[in-house]
Amino acid sequence: MSNIKKISDLDVAGKRVLVRVDFNVPLDKSGAISDDSRINAALPTIRHLVSHNAKVILASHLGRPKGKFNPAFSLKPVAENLAKKLGQPVIFLDDCIGCEAENAVSHLTDGSVLLLENVRFHAGEEKNDNEMSKSLANLADIFINDAFGTAHRAHASTVGVAKFTKEKAAGFLIEKELDFLGEKTSNPIRPFTVILGGAKVSDKIKVIDSLLDKADTILIGGGMAYTFKLAMGYKIGKSLCEVDKIEVAKQAIQKAKDKGVKFLLPEDNLIVDSLDFPAGKIGESKIAEGDFPDDWEGVDIGPKTIAAYKKEIQTAKTILWNGPMGIFEISDCSKGTFAIAEAVANSDAISIIGGGDSVKAINMSGYSDKVSFMSTGGGASLEYLEGKELPGVSALKD
Ligand code: AMP
Repeated sequence: MSNIKKISDLDVAGKRVLVRVDFNVPLDKSGAISDDSRINAALPTIRHLVSHNAKVILASHLGRPKGKFNPAFSLKPVAENLAKKLGQPVIFLDDCIGCEAENAVSHLTDGSVLLLENVRFHAGEEKNDNEMSKSLANLADIFINDAFGTAHRAHASTVGVAKFTKEKAAGFLIEKELDFLGEKTSNPIRPFTVILGGAKVSDKIKVIDSLLDKADTILIGGGMAYTFKLAMGYKIGKSLCEVDKIEVAKQAIQKAKDKGVKFLLPEDNLIVDSLDFPAGKIGESKIAEGDFPDDWEGVDIGPKTIAAYKKEIQTAKTILWNGPMGIFEISDCSKGTFAIAEAVANSDAISIIGGGDSVKAINMSGYSDKVSFMSTGGGASLEYLEGKELPGVSALKD
């Protein structure tokens, strides 16, 4: 956060403050919001600005309307939800740029809140177009980015706009995300244990490589464990595997050895002879150690692995978890993921859930209030953990 202002550095009273939030909430078939955690995550920044008498202008995207107006992706339901949470009206505007928006903004009173319509209704948004960026900047004296979930994208409302606003800062959510995913994992209280799972090695290899420089222990689970097992010479049946990633898997194992990082792979797995994902059903199942029979696939970590991983989690002082241990969407394959969720929640360590499906798993397990931090970013969290600069954050530098 060096060279980047925080909200607490700003004098916002009476000023027009444009805040890029991440209100990309899931909607059900009837168009109602099915999960409003992203709205909740933006509340600290919005409440602070309201209580400090700013004129608050909120901008967000929702879904992928591909640069055209589409009522199915309107932010109107979000305005209604937000008004209830704030206990004050939220003015909703049909567009995010242009005369009407400028006029509405000029009539805002101190402490009021206005939500602009979906920025992705304009093709210029995803192109990071200068005209669109200038039009957004025209609405404001100050720009605040608090949309961590889109900070890895260089769009007009996340990056371009910052070029044309005099004062800019990071919101409370971005500040917190960078603290937990950045500072607390770069200078961790040790031992620092990382748990990585999920489908593919290719999605996480850069994260593994970066965390091998920081962690004391790395525990591998999920589908990506089988590429590592294959790299070590085991037979993995028809488990998920990326043959073209065997070399990088070997390199990661070697780097762990060189750096003295404890790098654990599952010593046993739940394997099945068939699986029907849409129906949530498995065929015959058993626990396998070592080689898997042909035509069987690994779908979860086994009891010995759960016990070994729990032991590591219990002695950790900082924990970072990203990615499920198995196909946790199917209840018969979810034991490992939920056992890890419980162990992480019950540990005294600083526990950081690095976004995506592990957040879903923690929420499903009912332990979400027992972890220190759950990231709101999927792709953004991974890119930040890889050590990449996020364009939406860099654009805030003075
Ligand atoms: P990611 O988005 O990379 O964290 O991957 C999450 C997905 O990985 C979930 O949908 C899981 O069902 C899937 N997954 C976890 N373990 C396995 C496995 N053993 N085989 C296939 N997919 C898996």
